[in-house]
Amino acid sequence: MRSNLYDEFYDRFPSDMRSTFIENENGSIYSYSQLHRSSSQLANLLVQLGLKKGDRVAAQVDKSAQAVFLYLACIRAGLAFVPLNTAYKEHELEYFFEDAEPGLVVVGTRYYEAVERIATQAGVKNLETLDSTGGGSLIEKATGQSVKFETVTCKADDTAAILYTSGTTGKPKGAMITHRNLFSNARTLHKLWGWQSADVLLHALPIFHIHGLFVACNCVLMNGSSILFISRFDCDKVIDLLPRSTVMMGVPTFYTRLLSENRFNASICSNMRLFISGSAPLLEQTFEEFKQRTGHVILERYGMTEAGMITSNPLNGERISGTVGLPLPGTEVRLVDEYGHVLPNGREGRLEVKGDNVFLGYWRMPEKTAKDLTADGFLKTGDIAVINDQGYVSIVGRTKDLVISGGYNVYPKEVELCIDKLDQVLESAVIGLPDPDYGEAVTAVVVLHPKGAELTEDRLIEHVKYTLAGYKVPKRVYFIDALPRNAMGKVQKNILRENFSF
Ligand code: ATP
Ligand code: MG
Repeated sequence: MRSNLYDEFYDRFPSDMRSTFIENENGSIYSYSQLHRSSSQLANLLVQLGLKKGDRVAAQVDKSAQAVFLYLACIRAGLAFVPLNTAYKEHELEYFFEDAEPGLVVVGTRYYEAVERIATQAGVKNLETLDSTGGGSLIEKATGQSVKFETVTCKADDTAAILYTSGTTGKPKGAMITHRNLFSNARTLHKLWGWQSADVLLHALPIFHIHGLFVACNCVLMNGSSILFISRFDCDKVIDLLPRSTVMMGVPTFYTRLLSENRFNASICSNMRLFISGSAPLLEQTFEEFKQRTGHVILERYGMTEAGMITSNPLNGERISGTVGLPLPGTEVRLVDEYGHVLPNGREGRLEVKGDNVFLGYWRMPEKTAKDLTADGFLKTGDIAVINDQGYVSIVGRTKDLVISGGYNVYPKEVELCIDKLDQVLESAVIGLPDPDYGEAVTAVVVLHPKGAELTEDRLIEHVKYTLAGYKVPKRVYFIDALPRNAMGKVQKNILRENFSF
């Protein structure tokens, strides 16, 4: 690869640099030429602020074209971009600032005061603002800078970004992601998903996470095409913009919400080429309903912060619901048992992955890095999977999402899949709650179909008993209206455990 990820993007920018890169929902348009100039000005500012190669730039900012320019400016200046979830509150930010030790923190104008105190305490030297409309001190200061910047020469294994994992199974960990990781994944996905010059991506994801930032933006940057940017997912806005779009990337909740809208139909999707889903499991029912309503077969893929995208259903071959597809070209996957012995296909096991997409390691956690990377270079994903005869991978659980009941291991996902088979059930989450007898009691939290479905605890238990071993059967069942989910559509089991521990 070229010596900096940005050079790879730059080579692929459209020959007419006046072409649109980002169009915002308020109609403002940013061209590729503005991207290049703004990222130059920001990179010059970063250097002027005293930031040196390898330094971190943390950003807790709303979604804007300027936030993407800041990401690219960091790449160009050889700095590590550290986007932070906008939902993080003060005490959480303390952890990130102390852990990442950023040389610059960029924050939304509305959070400035609270963040200033924490940043000062953490010894952060530079604090600038950037708001959702592209205003703030960062852009004001950058405006006076030169529009020329010589992109810094980097090594492929230099860190381009530190992304914190979602914190689904514990404290978020900083994943060091290199220029090579991002380039190899973007190049592979660009080819695999058949990007075309006239493609228009509808972007409703947050940009502090790998999905919205790397998978979505980097594919477009590799394609030199345009993005319709909306600040957050909103059914009405998405339905209005779909006729002008060709590709959408979403988390499963986007698709269930669209299906709940009566006016969402096939004609709205007639210009669309591809709907992609990831970050959390897509329910088979959503996949089917979407196909029936629109004629489109959602392409589900699987990945994680530490390894980028790992598997994908095919663009042209069969997209199978309940699976996350085949390993990406250049990416090797295997299943192992708890001792690390490789298992034959057909057996359920721990998924490991190897390839240029696999990260450098966890930031300032050498022991955790050593534990999660095998001697032969595979990353332990922490996901449990099966691989069928055709090579399609299905994620069936997470090693950390394990209930130990009466000494037996229960993988919640298996029980959830069984419960979800009941017609009355929309979705479910299985958790372990403290129990004097069993250590942990298998507990099901269930959401019924909104259209008046009825189901009793006894009937549900009877159904699971019929299908699964006794120790996997829920001891208690709670019915609620909706599962708590984070911005990436991941079910927040910690909240369920808190709410149902009496
Ligand atoms: P943490 O590592 O902090 O506990 P996290 O693993 O949820 O959080 P991410 O890196 O954002 O943080 O998410 C990666 C995980 O998301 C994968 O390991 C997998 O469990 C899940 N995932 C992603 N895509 C899919 C998918 N299509 N189907 C099922 N699970 C998915
Ligand atoms: Mg994880």
